Amino acid sequence: WEGNRGKMNFNSDVIFVHPPTNFEANSKPVALWPISEVIPSSPTFEMYPYGFLTMAEYLERHGFSTKIYNLALMYLRENIDVHDFATKLDVELVAIDLHWMVHASGSLTLAKIIKEHNPETPVLFGGLSSTYYYKELIRNPFIDFIIRGDSCEKPLLELMRAIMRRDREEFDNIPNLVWKKNGRMVDNGIKWVEEDLDDILEDPDVLPQLLLSRNLESLPYRGFMENPIVPVFTVRGCSLNCATCGGSEKFYKRFCRREKLAFRSPKKIVRDLKTYNKYGDFPIFLIGDLRQGGEKYWKNVARGIKDEEIDSKLVLELFSPARKGFYEEFEGVDRVNIQISPETYDEDLRARQRTRFTNDALEKNLRWGIESGVDKFDVYFMIGIAGQNEQEVKNTVDYTDELLSIGDEIHSFIAPLAPFVDPGSPAFEKPSSKGFKILFKDVSSHVEAMKSDTWENSLNYETRTLGRREIVENTYEALSQMAQKKKIHQRINEKEYEQKVLRLKLSREANRRIRNGGDPQRILNEVKTSLDSISSTGDLYWGSPKLSLTGLIKAAKRKMLSMLPF
Ligand code: SF4
Repeated sequence: WEGNRGKMNFNSDVIFVHPPTNFEANSKPVALWPISEVIPSSPTFEMYPYGFLTMAEYLERHGFSTKIYNLALMYLRENIDVHDFATKLDVELVAIDLHWMVHASGSLTLAKIIKEHNPETPVLFGGLSSTYYYKELIRNPFIDFIIRGDSCEKPLLELMRAIMRRDREEFDNIPNLVWKKNGRMVDNGIKWVEEDLDDILEDPDVLPQLLLSRNLESLPYRGFMENPIVPVFTVRGCSLNCATCGGSEKFYKRFCRREKLAFRSPKKIVRDLKTYNKYGDFPIFLIGDLRQGGEKYWKNVARGIKDEEIDSKLVLELFSPARKGFYEEFEGVDRVNIQISPETYDEDLRARQRTRFTNDALEKNLRWGIESGVDKFDVYFMIGIAGQNEQEVKNTVDYTDELLSIGDEIHSFIAPLAPFVDPGSPAFEKPSSKGFKILFKDVSSHVEAMKSDTWENSLNYETRTLGRREIVENTYEALSQMAQKKKIHQRINEKEYEQKVLRLKLSREANRRIRNGGDPQRILNEVKTSLDSISSTGDLYWGSPKLSLTGLIKAAKRKMLSMLPF
């Protein structure tokens, strides 16, 4: 490359850009679908992958300037002109995530437009879906590089150094890189797998400062300032093989060459928490079941938190019920929220989808947790798993009556598996043995799926027991019944209940009318304004967050200093 500096100063060498699901999303019925009910994102899936933050910090630490643009969020606020965005770019590299397949359409459109206006600026793709589909993606003339695998920080740094030296010869030696030589794909192979997560996010202030700097373009999701959740990744890889998950042990092994899990040390986790604590009072999510690191590991985390008297709101993930000793160890930690996903009422189906554990074990856990002072338990169920039928969905929702009766601390959620079974997941690779039928296999069919007018047509799967329309209809039923149970058990108030029910009614009716041949655009216009004013995920969040003014001032100061020319 000749280089591309000098047009307009974006003050960064690399920009990380997160696209919306597709650039027609605002005028498509996708906005109506209840497919993001249990994540802090709208159906535009505006939350960007955590890897943006770790890569940005790694590059900054080694002397490169970076910036994150959450184009999906900007697009949600207003119909931004992507061409206008692209013409203003003046950077050495544009990095676009295709981590979750829902962004297939948005990421490809974005890359194409950026290349159109900046033919000399290299475009990089990364993320787990890019890793899976790298051969198909690199054929696009507007994608120059793909970094495969789950360890992109170091390869990206090497790529940046090669780009700055304008030395194409160096590309040959960059691990995990897929690139083009004379128009042909060169795959350097996955040769770098990070084994020590302590080398990632060395400066713990970077993440909260990035997230809390009130820089609207880089906020992770809509409503973040009102309900921030800050992540701490404790592990890379996973020890389970959930049927529909593209982040399973087998995926990491086969597609990322990860032979063993990489952990962040308890010492670093505690240091992260201590740092984040000073920025305010908001939930901090320790991502990954701490028990994967062994007993000594999770005990050291719990003890470190208590020794340092960290009083953050801690969100912990359990992949399966824990022993009583786990709760006893966390007793004395100020505020704890536990998340657990039994997926379904039927224990055999649960074993097939996730891992085997009994309802009795789950209930015991909830009781032990409450006795030990757990403040909140979030229990997640799913619609669309193999073997589930209408009756089983109903049994699952009914079962939450029992769970919610155990204590006020318990909150239950149900959501459809939508829109995609992850490419590379066990069910995607061997659908018939897992009870699934996969309907779309390649990138382009997923691109088209996200442009569908009805959400059943966007689903890339059906099961032997539930077709796509049945998954949709069962979802509406289950969500309505779940809302009712939440109201009865006083997890939501009357107004929240009415809002949820109204939202579901509007969405279901719109979907039905479109399915029956109604004009999607007209129907969308009719219901969208009403839908936008209705919140559906209030009980996802935990208490009222408070951001510390001192922390935010520090973030602002740091930002201003970083703009000075020294
Ligand atoms: S869904 Fe299952 S396989 Fe995927 S990350 Fe979670 S526990 Fe691991």
